[in-house]
Amino acid sequence: MMRSILYFLGILFFISGNLCSSQKPNILFLFCDDHATQAISAYGGPLAEIAPTPNIDRIAKEGMLFRKCYVTNSICGPSRAVVLTGKYSHLNGFRVNGDTFDGSQQTAPKLLRKAGYQTAIVGKWHLKSEPTGFDHFEVLRGQGQYYNPILNTDGKKVKHEGYTTDVITDQTLEWLDNRDPDKPFFLMSQHKAPHGRWEPAIRHLDFLADIDVPEPSTLFDDYSGRSKAAAGHKMGLADHMGPHRLMLEYSSKLTPKQKTALDEYFEPRNKAYLEANLEGRDRTRWHYQRYIKNYLRCVKAVDESVGRLLKYLDDNGLTENTVVIYSSDQGFYLGEHGWFDKRWMYEESFRTPLLVRWPGMVAPGTVNSKDIVSNLDFASTFLDVADAPIPNDLQGRSLTPVLRGNTPSDWRDYHYYHYYESGGHGVPLHFGVTDGRYKLIRFPEPRIDAWELYGLESDPRELESRFGDPALSDVQAELEDQLRALQKKYEVPVE
Ligand code: CA
Repeated sequence: MMRSILYFLGILFFISGNLCSSQKPNILFLFCDDHATQAISAYGGPLAEIAPTPNIDRIAKEGMLFRKCYVTNSICGPSRAVVLTGKYSHLNGFRVNGDTFDGSQQTAPKLLRKAGYQTAIVGKWHLKSEPTGFDHFEVLRGQGQYYNPILNTDGKKVKHEGYTTDVITDQTLEWLDNRDPDKPFFLMSQHKAPHGRWEPAIRHLDFLADIDVPEPSTLFDDYSGRSKAAAGHKMGLADHMGPHRLMLEYSSKLTPKQKTALDEYFEPRNKAYLEANLEGRDRTRWHYQRYIKNYLRCVKAVDESVGRLLKYLDDNGLTENTVVIYSSDQGFYLGEHGWFDKRWMYEESFRTPLLVRWPGMVAPGTVNSKDIVSNLDFASTFLDVADAPIPNDLQGRSLTPVLRGNTPSDWRDYHYYHYYESGGHGVPLHFGVTDGRYKLIRFPEPRIDAWELYGLESDPRELESRFGDPALSDVQAELEDQLRALQKKYEVPVE
């Protein structure tokens, strides 16, 4: 009798143990480069109708969309280092794009692997050193190119022919097909797109070809309401695009067939532009149309990629037990303030998209406009989803209670930002703090030596700094206190 009870208990234990291990959710992290919320139709805005992103929007429809996901340092490599480590740039050691990531440090993929996950990364890496913590990596060298990419596949150079967004999707699907189905997976599928220089897929050249894309209201911003920092930029649609960003010249090494197809579209239009010898606002307007159309075409390929991956999950019975996260390394200027590029703590590049689908955990169609979240939280979130321990030295917090609709009462009210790559595209070093309603920015370099303060509700485009305005003296004092408190909390070495 006793023996049969023990036998029964043993079987029960075995079954429940197996159920538990098979119940650990997979994590599919879809990460883009320079993808602004303005170019995701789920976020609304003037581009939503002409350039919809139905597949990315599906993640929002079936999950949660965050309106206040702010980065810690709005630039490619540093943002990726934050995602991997859950630590600010000064602690993970990757402050500027010229840095090299120290792959010997603790990262989320390493901890997930320890927790029994199969880990892989396909696509853009951009951290110079070889990826660590992955069972499989297949990454572009540096920025990579839009056509015919060379991938570093587990240490081996492999040349691919085709459009890079498609190639990354193909390789992601191939890894999914060949993975060990007995283990949960953590898969980072990371596009180069829509990072410049914006070379669309040939099949998308006709998209938007015959329409005028609406211009942002700040296209001709004169920066008169701010400190002198913004006016020193070198990211203007008017003067800083150069022939490659304008697609007067190609950046990728193309096959003759690809070149012929691109020439067919671009050559007559380029000829007309060069002959017209445009000046002033007309020139800026032409640059904007050229830029935004190619950018949105690059996004279209990304959206198709998301569709293919979601379909794979559907077709293979993986949808229910896979957390899908869509985000970008930062936001981007789509002509706002006359700019392309990122870096500033102003909203368009400070805010990044975040959409999360987790069936059974996240209520479908939820829009979170209230909670301030960050790419600093991603590492803790991955670990929490995997039910793995979260080390104390991570500086973000798991988003899982927020995703379940139970934001903890002590969730952050203020977010700290710090940009280090002084001079890149003319942007000086700066740091700041926001509570989502007001934003305080400090430019400490002697050539600028300035503060700015914005009321985001009355001035969402941040055109008029209110620093020193007596009407906001309490707000300003509070933000100054919070700035110092957060620098102390995050161990930021400052002046
Ligand atoms: Ca980027």
